[in-house]
Amino acid sequence: MEFDLIHRYFHQLGTTHDNILCGVGDDCALLKTDKTLAISTDTLNCGVHFLENDPPDLLGWKSLAVNVSDLAASGAKPLAALLALSLPQIDEKWLSLFQKGFDSCAKHYNIALIGGDTTRGALSINITILGETKKPLLRCAAQANDDIWLSHETGWASIGLDLKCNGQSPAHLLPQTLQQKAFWALHKPIAHVELALQLSHLANSAIDVSDGLIGDLTHLSKQSHLSAHLFLEKFPKTLMNALPCHFSYCLNKMFAGGEDYVLLFSASPLHRQKIEQLNAWRIGVFQQKENNEDVFLWNEKKENLLNQFDFKGFEHF
Ligand code: ADP
Ligand code: MG
Repeated sequence: MEFDLIHRYFHQLGTTHDNILCGVGDDCALLKTDKTLAISTDTLNCGVHFLENDPPDLLGWKSLAVNVSDLAASGAKPLAALLALSLPQIDEKWLSLFQKGFDSCAKHYNIALIGGDTTRGALSINITILGETKKPLLRCAAQANDDIWLSHETGWASIGLDLKCNGQSPAHLLPQTLQQKAFWALHKPIAHVELALQLSHLANSAIDVSDGLIGDLTHLSKQSHLSAHLFLEKFPKTLMNALPCHFSYCLNKMFAGGEDYVLLFSASPLHRQKIEQLNAWRIGVFQQKENNEDVFLWNEKKENLLNQFDFKGFEHF
């Protein structure tokens, strides 16, 4: 039964590559490459990362896309993935929709599904992803005076979650078009691979924003031994303009909301013009550390908003 299931749902998904010598069906997948391999894994647990009645096709997309985002943050091109699924029972309808979403994401990013594991247990999706890079982007390599850049607006996935789970949230005041934008940000994240590959020779450091902008920027600051200075007026204004009476709510979503999967990176000001053409937002600058602070968020009155608001990123424990 199990082998039949694997064969029907997980055989030949995504796009195959010449350097995959063996995929699903043997004891190990075999891969040959002369580049540096970038490898990452992420788990989505039912009840923690998604709900039982979430659309399975969107879940199939998202479970792979969040892993692709880690590769992008390392400046790596996606190559192959392994899928470890734990299922409470065999639900053919769920499996075929999940397969459809997973396969469309795999094809979109040119990834081959080369193996995995299928077991009985509480619903959980674990993916291990492999990519190739010639020039990896690291969290520890930001330089003093680097510009800090953001590839896309943040906060919308977290707003999508509020719309779904919190009837009291100001998110319900947003117009329908922006509520739709939030739904798609939550359920169909887009990993910024193309941008990441263009950046690999321009950026000094990068991370993907998955647990909140301030929290993830803190990782870059700490690992590079620098302070990040952000300027509120440089950020996209869509959300603040749409909810002008809910300033602190908007700040919280933009700076601490999770699951954005956008790229946060730093680069020398010498590359500013080239990066501007890639449609990224220049939001701040790294400077030498003068005290213990990792991140500052300055408003136009030169007040540090991090002294007034508590932007805790997501932590599991
Ligand atoms: P083994 O008992 O040797 O670990 P399995 O029965 O777990 O083998 O898996 C058989 C083959 O199917 C292996 O190639 C494995 O990588 C693949 N496989 C199992 N589950 C999945 C899955 N969910 N997605 C993709 N490949 C899978
Ligand atoms: Mg096995």
